[in-house]
Amino acid sequence: MVVVMEINSNTQQIEAVNSKLAQLGYKTQVIHGVKRIVIGAVGDRRSNDLMELQLMPGVEKIVPIMKPYKLVSREAKEDNTVINVGSATIGGENLTIIAGPCAVENRQQFLAAADQVKHAGGQIIRGGAFKPRTSPYSFQGLELEGLEILREASQATGLPVVTEVIDEVSLQMALDYVDMVQVGARNMQNFRLLKAVGQTDKPVLLKRGMSATIEEWLMAAEYIISEGNGRVILCERGIRTFETATRNTLDLSAVPLVKRLSHLPVIVDPSHGTGDRGLVRPMSMAAVAAGADGLILEMHPEPAKALSDGPQSLTPGELEQVMMQLSMLIPAVGRQLPPAYVS
Ligand code: PEP
Ligand code: MN
Repeated sequence: MVVVMEINSNTQQIEAVNSKLAQLGYKTQVIHGVKRIVIGAVGDRRSNDLMELQLMPGVEKIVPIMKPYKLVSREAKEDNTVINVGSATIGGENLTIIAGPCAVENRQQFLAAADQVKHAGGQIIRGGAFKPRTSPYSFQGLELEGLEILREASQATGLPVVTEVIDEVSLQMALDYVDMVQVGARNMQNFRLLKAVGQTDKPVLLKRGMSATIEEWLMAAEYIISEGNGRVILCERGIRTFETATRNTLDLSAVPLVKRLSHLPVIVDPSHGTGDRGLVRPMSMAAVAAGADGLILEMHPEPAKALSDGPQSLTPGELEQVMMQLSMLIPAVGRQLPPAYVS
């Protein structure tokens, strides 16, 4: 349930309700909306509790949430959540572009890519240091060396960086080096990892599992938020269907639907969603038209030489073209250009 506090409720009243909920055995979280504060409370609800809480000073109303996910739901927080990632924000008026190669391959490749992303107007740089590959014989990532390169690229460009973590060990390693951690499609239901990222203060980019329903995806976000970390960004990256002509089927209807069900930002990954660089530009446009808060795009200085995901990686010039087209579309969907692109 959600305890909605009156607009002019004070800190002591909020604290008193929070303590009362804890005393009654609920796990609570104070959620700061634009207009008011609400307290999310998860636990076994008894009717006596409701009466007692309803009478407390500063309480406006109590809203039971019937959905299995509570803290991520729109009922818990009416206004959109905006998440700061270093100098970038996700979920606000700007469209946020995250771009970079699938993997950090070496220092030269990654520093060049980082510069190209900045030049094109991207606000966050991506690059995998731990790669969850289908084959154990494929490139697995540079691990610690990759993290060091990510940090260097961030310092050189002034842009924040995101990298995927695949278990608790890689998470602990990444915390000192990156601005945001990614939980990939393969780990969307790795519940220990979800709890572990939920215990950090880093923003979490949570990709949709390749066979996950929207409810399962939102439940995965609930795992993170229920541990105390409310900074979750959802990423639609395509799901498995009977169709084999594309790598995955990019489920763009998920974007407006998830934004209806949840207050969290939603971004789209048309690179993994299609597996085909020729489809990245049109699907980027479609994602933005559908209301996505941002895009995560794979771009490699030389896609033909990429150690992973070359066929779906844009060239630096193609990334610039995507940005150019987006700049024409963005005003039509009521968003602003990323400030970096304007300058
Ligand atoms: C990636 O971003 O490189 C990646 C592995 O993504 P996904 O988890 O969506 O497959
Ligand atoms: Mn990839």
